[in-house]
Amino acid sequence: MSNSGPDSQTILVVGGGIAGITAAVEVAETGYDVILLERGPSLGGRVAMFNRYFPKMCHPTCGLEINFQRIKKNSQIKVMTMTSVSAVSGGPGNFAVTLETTPRHVNAKCTACGDCAKATEMEVPNPFNYGLNNTKAAYLPHEHAYPMRYVIAPEAASGDEGAKIKAACKYDAVDLEETSTTSEINVGAIIWATGWKPYDASKLTSYIYDQSPDIINNVEMERLAAHNGPTGGKILRPSNGEPAKKVALIQCAGSRDTNHLAYCSRICCLGSLKHAAYLREQYADAEVDIYYIDIRAHDKLEAFYQKVKDDDRVHFVKSKPGHIDIGADGRPVLCGEHTISREIYAEPYDLVVLATGMEPSSVDNLPALKLTTDEYGFIVPEMGDADGMFSAGVAGGPLDVSMSVQSATAAALKAIQAVRG
Ligand SMILES: Cc1cc2nc3c(=O)[nH]c(=O)nc-3n(C[C@H](O)[C@H](O)[C@H](O)COP(=O)(O)OP(=O)(O)OC[C@H]3O[C@@H](n4cnc5c(N)ncnc54)[C@H](O)[C@@H]3O)c2cc1C
Repeated sequence: MSNSGPDSQTILVVGGGIAGITAAVEVAETGYDVILLERGPSLGGRVAMFNRYFPKMCHPTCGLEINFQRIKKNSQIKVMTMTSVSAVSGGPGNFAVTLETTPRHVNAKCTACGDCAKATEMEVPNPFNYGLNNTKAAYLPHEHAYPMRYVIAPEAASGDEGAKIKAACKYDAVDLEETSTTSEINVGAIIWATGWKPYDASKLTSYIYDQSPDIINNVEMERLAAHNGPTGGKILRPSNGEPAKKVALIQCAGSRDTNHLAYCSRICCLGSLKHAAYLREQYADAEVDIYYIDIRAHDKLEAFYQKVKDDDRVHFVKSKPGHIDIGADGRPVLCGEHTISREIYAEPYDLVVLATGMEPSSVDNLPALKLTTDEYGFIVPEMGDADGMFSAGVAGGPLDVSMSVQSATAAALKAIQAVRG
């Protein structure tokens, strides 16, 4: 590597959620080239999968669409979907990065007309709805997807099914021959914005998540409430499709627990307050019980907490339920002890929502990527100052959207400084 200054001024952003999108736009609008990688078929990350998001309870398109327009208009941003990083070598100004791209089987000629979906009867679990329903094996990731381009599931990309789908496309956009590819790029700095995944609720064995469809996690609740979700926005019991009117929200499901996630994810209390609001907006007679250790509503969101608290159909129960049983009528029954009154309860519900925390997205093979993580697996942001690599958003620790955006702007500035030498 040259000592006189960086060789490449291109900045790589890994992860196309709100943090990665923000970092990419900030970098490009300052006049630098940026490559934005997303391993999934479209940008937006977890935010795109929300029904609405606080503080203003906006629909995800409010925040995302404006950024998609900025990306579209800026020729200095190159977006690569279905792509991840398998190795990094070199150093600031001169990173050699190995990329792995998996097949989408649909090229840029796609007009999103949907004829490919009409041509197949095959269905696969819908990844955008966390598998709560199925989608056609030729599918648009979701109605506001960027890029607005279909995906052919691997199961449908060969044989008769593949042939039917290909024949239906009058734009020659279906490419059944596409295979996984490896490529190399050179960049001057890297921003890791790989985000988070929900903690695996099936590890909370006493909450029997795997044993009842009416025990779901908080990200699934977002999809149940979303107009483009599996129930068209009606919060229904997955077991029988009836309205979920008596609902328990269990806070710290696996969080602040040394057997699971030892830290607080900062957002789950507010997430559940939001879910209580969804239920109360939808059903005038809904009863919501929030089981909590203590409620953590950070800074300005205290007002939102107070508003939900003022609703006399939302009850705050200071208790961490011990376990969940299944009642004779098939409903989940929460069993435990009130922390203050010491009363023992066994309360049946239509729906139980586990407020699981945010775990860092697994980034495999840390040494090959030259990454350092903290004891919980979050990418250490400080490493970047020395190494030309920076973290942004929840990749570096639990944050809400506005904090993720701020951290992404900071990472963009640091990366620009690194490539300017
Ligand atoms: C239940 C719940 C509700 C919430 N509601 C709100 C809310 O209402 N308001 C709010 O402000 N915050 C909310 N949050 C927090 C919010 O989800 C995060 O702040 C936000 O998702 C952070 O964005 P991000 O870009 O850092 O990560 P993500 O949204 O996780 O995006 C990361 C992206 O990187 C991609 N990626 C991962 N690994 C790789 C890789 N190796 N290569 C390429 N791409 C990769 C992923 O596919 C994803 O698209 C909520 C959190 C929870 C748990």
